[in-house]
Amino acid sequence: MPKISDAAAARKMLHDKLDELLNRAEETAKDLHKFKEVDKMVRDEVLSLGEDVVRFGIEAAAPSLRLRARDTPCPHCKKPLQFKQFRRTTIRTSLTGEPMPVLSPVAVCAHGCAVLLNLVRHGLGLDDDGRTIRLRELAAMAGTIEPFEAAASQVLSELAGITMSANGVHGICQDVAEVARERMNAGMLGQARTLKREEVLYVMADGCMVWVGDGWHEVKFAVIFPSGSNPLVSKDRHTTTERQVICTLGDREDLGDAVWNAVERWLPRDVDGNAVAAGKIVFISDGSVWLRNMCEEKLPGAFVLLDWYHMAEHVAETAKILHAGNDLAAHRWRKEQEALLMNGRVSAMLNGLELLTRNATLTKAACEAVTALHGFLEPRRASLRYCEAKARGYLIGSGSAESAANHVVQQRMKRAGMRWERDGATAMLALRAAWRSTKGFVGLVKAA
Ligand SMILES: [Zn+2]
Repeated sequence: MPKISDAAAARKMLHDKLDELLNRAEETAKDLHKFKEVDKMVRDEVLSLGEDVVRFGIEAAAPSLRLRARDTPCPHCKKPLQFKQFRRTTIRTSLTGEPMPVLSPVAVCAHGCAVLLNLVRHGLGLDDDGRTIRLRELAAMAGTIEPFEAAASQVLSELAGITMSANGVHGICQDVAEVARERMNAGMLGQARTLKREEVLYVMADGCMVWVGDGWHEVKFAVIFPSGSNPLVSKDRHTTTERQVICTLGDREDLGDAVWNAVERWLPRDVDGNAVAAGKIVFISDGSVWLRNMCEEKLPGAFVLLDWYHMAEHVAETAKILHAGNDLAAHRWRKEQEALLMNGRVSAMLNGLELLTRNATLTKAACEAVTALHGFLEPRRASLRYCEAKARGYLIGSGSAESAANHVVQQRMKRAGMRWERDGATAMLALRAAWRSTKGFVGLVKAA
C-alpha cells in the first residue's frame, strides 16, 4: 500500500498498471480466440484497477481531511475536533464490494469528550460495515427487484461482480425503506414539477390483496402522472415518463393523505401560494366505495371517471345473460349501451336499463342482471362522463393503476411460497414504490 506522503509513487504505480492493461488488450487482439472475450478480460482488471484509483483518491485527500478536522464539530460538545493520528480503516466500494484497507485521519475532541471520529468514514458517509453510498444504493435496488438471496447471489455477484451477503442486502433495504416510506407519506417520493397550463394530473387508484402475517390484506395504491408525460405510443398503449407511486397496507385515510401530499406538488398556486386543484385533477378508478370516498375527501373537485374497461366488462356480462344464446344480439346490445355513454347520453342509457327491468318478457336471470348493472351504474352516474372526457382528450381507462399493481406488488411480493410479515411487507412496498416512481431512488440512501 502506498504511503500517504508518497502520492507520486502511487500515481506512477497506477500508470504502470494501466499501461500493462493496454498492452494485454493489444496482445489479445492478435489472438482471435481470446479477442472474443476481450471485454471480459478487461472488465475484471478495470474493477480492480478502479479500487486502486479510489484508494489513491481517498489517500490523496487525507491531508486536507486532516486539516478539516478543525471544521468538524464534536458530536457531543459541538467544539472543534483535533487530528490525532492516521489509522487503517476498511471500506467497501460499489466496484467489487470487497473489503479494501485505506489510511484515514482520525480526530478526537479537543475538550475531552469520548469521541473518536474517522474522517474518511465520516466524509464518505460509510455505514458500520464500511460500505459506500453507491454500494448501498446498488444493494437496495437489487433487493427491491429480487428476493434478498437472489439479489445478493445473482444480481450483485453474477451480474455486477459485487460481493455481498443476503443479510447485507436485507439490512440495507430495511434502512433505505424507512426513508422511502417517510418520503412517500409526505408525497415527496420521486420527481414532481408544476403542471403546464394545458396539462391535467391523473390520479389512478386501486387495491390488491397480499398475504401478510396470518391472512390476506389489501394493499391500497395510487399512481400519479401528468397528462403531458403520457404520449400515445400506439393505439392502446401508453408509456409514462413521469410517475409517482404511493402504496400502503393502511386504510384509505393513509393513502388519501399521501396522495394529496404528492398531488399538491404538481398543482399551480394562486396569489396566496395555495394549491389550485380546480380543473387540474382527473381521478380514475374501478368505482369501489372506498375509492369514491377517498376522492371526495381528499381530491374534491376532481374530474371523476369510472374506468371504462370495468364499466364495459360489466355491460358485456349483462349482455350475455340478457341475450343468452344469441351472441349477435348480445354484441349489438353491448355496443348500443357503450355508444350511449360515449355520446354523453347517460340518462338515456340508465332510463333504458330501468325500463328493461320492468319488461315482463325478461327471464328472472336477465332481470336480475340488468337490475344489478343499473344498481352499479346509477350511484356512479357522475363518473360516466366519457363524452366530456373524450372531448377534453382525457384518458378513460385506469390501466396505469393495474400495471402498477403488477409492477409494485405482484412481481416482488406475490411469488410462489412467499410469506411476509407486516414490517417487511410495509418496507418492501415503500421500496417498490420508490423503484416505480420517476427518480424515486435518488438521494434515498444518502438520507438513510
Ligand atoms: Zn466534545
